Amino acid sequence: MEIFKNLIGNDDIKNTLGSAIKNRVFSHAYIIEGDYGTGKHNVARLASSAIMCQGNGDLPCGKCDFCRKILNDNCTDVRFFDAFKVDDVRKIKETLYESSTECPYKIYIFNDAHKMNIKAQNALLISLEEPPKNVIFFLLCQDASYLLETIRSRAQLLRTKPLSGDVIFDYVRGNMLSSLKDEDLREVIISSRGSLGYVLDMLDEKKAAELINAREKISGFVEALLSNDVSSYAKITSLFSMQRDALKDLLSSALIAVRDMAVIKKDKNATLCFYASRENLIKLVTKHSLRKILDIYDAIEKGLYDFGSNSNVPNTLTSILINARK
Ligand SMILES: [Zn+2]
Repeated sequence: MEIFKNLIGNDDIKNTLGSAIKNRVFSHAYIIEGDYGTGKHNVARLASSAIMCQGNGDLPCGKCDFCRKILNDNCTDVRFFDAFKVDDVRKIKETLYESSTECPYKIYIFNDAHKMNIKAQNALLISLEEPPKNVIFFLLCQDASYLLETIRSRAQLLRTKPLSGDVIFDYVRGNMLSSLKDEDLREVIISSRGSLGYVLDMLDEKKAAELINAREKISGFVEALLSNDVSSYAKITSLFSMQRDALKDLLSSALIAVRDMAVIKKDKNATLCFYASRENLIKLVTKHSLRKILDIYDAIEKGLYDFGSNSNVPNTLTSILINARK
C-alpha cells in the first residue's frame, strides 16, 4: 500500500502525513506553509481523501465515493474557507459540533490563513485547543509567522517545497495534454520557480505565448547591451511598455538573466534562474568577458535604482545604454 502516490515531490509531507494516516493518529490541526503554486491545496485535498478513503490499496484510492467527492471539492465534510475576520470564524465554529454527514471526520481547510486578522485567529484558537474529536483543521498559508504563536504551537507544521524543473517537466508530459513544444515548456517552467500550479495555469497556449514573448524581450535587451549593439538596443527597447511598473519588472528580470550569465561563466553547472537552456547560455557567454557581464549588471542595477527617484522610461533606458558602454 502506498500513500500519496500522486503527490509529486514533497517527501517530508508524504512521510509525516503518510505515517499519521497509516496509524490513524492525527494532529487536530496542520499548518501547510508554502509559496504560491507549490501545491498546498492539492496536499490538503489529497490528505483529506486519504484520511477518509474506503479503499484497501493505495491511499487515496481515487475511486471510492469519498475520494471522488473530495477530489472534486464536492464533499460536505471537507470544506474550504476564506475566513479572515472574526465573524467568518464564528460562523464556521457554529458548525463544528454538528455531526458529519457521511465521512468519519470533518475537515476544515482555511485558505490564505496568513491573511486572518488577530481577532479571527484568537477566535479560531479556542477551537484548536479543544476541538471536537472528529474534526481536523488544515491552515494553508504562505508564511506561518503571520499566525499567532499559540496557533503554531497547537498545529503540526508541514512545508510544501518548490519542485525541480525536471520533476515538473516529467509530470506535465506524463499527465497533461499540452501542445507546447518542449523548449517552450522549459521556458514556462524556469519562470515558475518550482511552482507546478503556475506551470499548469500557463499551459494555455495564449498565456504561454505572452510569457515567452516577454522573456524574449528581456534576453534581447540584455544581449543588445552585451554586444554593444546600439541599433538592436533601439529596436528591442522600442517594443517596451512605457509603464513605469512594467519597466521595473523587466529590469528586475534582466538582472536575474545577467546573474545567470555571471554564475555560468564561473561554473557550467550552476543553478540557473532565468535561462531555460544551459547549452545556449554557455554558447552566449563564451563571446563575452566576465568583466563585461558584471558591467552590464551594474548598469541595469543603477538604472533601476535611479528610476525609483525621478527618471522616466526613455531616459532610464538611455542611461543604462550609456553606462553599459563606458
Ligand atoms: Zn478512496
